[in-house]
Amino acid sequence: MDNVIRVITGHRPYRPKGFVVRSEEMDDKFIVHNYGHGGAGISLSWGSSALSVRETKGKRPGAVAVIGSGIMGLTSARLLQDAGWDVTIYTRDVYRHTTSNVAAGEWGPFSTHDPAVSSDAFKSQLEWASRISHHAYTNLTGPKYGIRWLEAYTLTNTRLQNFQGDDKIADLFTYKADLGPGEHPFPTAYVQRMVTMQIDPGVFLRQTVADFQLAGGKFVLQNFANVSEILALAEPVIFNCTGLGAAKLFGDDNLVPAKGQLVFMPPDPAVDYMTFGGVDGDTFVNGGFLHMFPRSDVILMGGIFKLGDYTTHVEHDETERIVTEHQKLFADFG
Ligand SMILES: Cc1cc2nc3c(=O)[nH]c(=O)nc-3n(C[C@H](O)[C@H](O)[C@H](O)COP(=O)(O)OP(=O)(O)OC[C@H]3O[C@@H](n4cnc5c(N)ncnc54)[C@H](O)[C@@H]3O)c2cc1C
Repeated sequence: MDNVIRVITGHRPYRPKGFVVRSEEMDDKFIVHNYGHGGAGISLSWGSSALSVRETKGKRPGAVAVIGSGIMGLTSARLLQDAGWDVTIYTRDVYRHTTSNVAAGEWGPFSTHDPAVSSDAFKSQLEWASRISHHAYTNLTGPKYGIRWLEAYTLTNTRLQNFQGDDKIADLFTYKADLGPGEHPFPTAYVQRMVTMQIDPGVFLRQTVADFQLAGGKFVLQNFANVSEILALAEPVIFNCTGLGAAKLFGDDNLVPAKGQLVFMPPDPAVDYMTFGGVDGDTFVNGGFLHMFPRSDVILMGGIFKLGDYTTHVEHDETERIVTEHQKLFADFG
């Protein structure tokens, strides 16, 4: 616990039915919604934003307002600029203070929805968004955008039958192997290995803001109290990228927070892989998914996913649990 340098919390904008990409006419405005990506908004950003920009098909590019400066607002804005639109981002918070800047940053479009209540149409939308986004991120790997490839290990005590994710996109995770006892250094019996991308949200968001401004984009700080204030904007086309804010602004009862908490320790250059799960092989503890990621500036650990919890305070017992579980996991590492 003495090594903990910082603890932060954030709220994943979670919709059991899955994230929303759709357009509608409201008064004389054309509204495009792009929100509700749960624990995977970083992963899905380019793909979901590409699907949302596609909603403008047939419209002549002109002035467009994007509400929100998190990852969905910024990637939507960049794609709109590429398509010839003149974009202004209206936002309550600058990117540094968004949920997007809290994210851990694994590329993995999981924890997005409840498969029991989401539709087949949504599942197809999720697959498309995942594939487009994966492709876009692979074009941006390197320090400029804070993206790198890393090995990831899912720890279990029973041999996994399937890929620990969505089988439909299993091909996006390479270098896969199921390792048994004696084939890996972890204290669990089994380990599933794969390679995926890790995105450092702070670096990615900062660079995307710079790209947006270089292409002529403007920011306006504005906190919208209700939808009427949004409809009063001058732009005829408006993108709603307000994340959890959409619950109140657009009356979406399906959208709820899933509180997360991340614990940071000083960096360790020897750690060049991610882990999912604890020593008991129980990857889901208290509704959360125990995980450890290395970054150049910190070691990051997480593991809570509290549905419906709007509180913002750090929970010290959770910090202790996250640290203790990882301490057990690495106790025998030299
Ligand atoms: C602890 C944690 C770990 C995570 N780890 C990962 C991960 O490893 N991989 C991954 O892919 N995803 C991860 N996520 C999920 C990811 O962070 C979110 O899905 C994503 O950030 C949502 O982006 P967004 O742009 O929709 O929302 P936000 O980043 O919340 O941005 C919303 C924007 O809308 C603005 N806004 C809202 N309401 C109003 C209003 N009334 N008026 C004006 N502006 C408004 C806000 O100011 C903000 O600029 C994690 C999240 C958390 C909390």
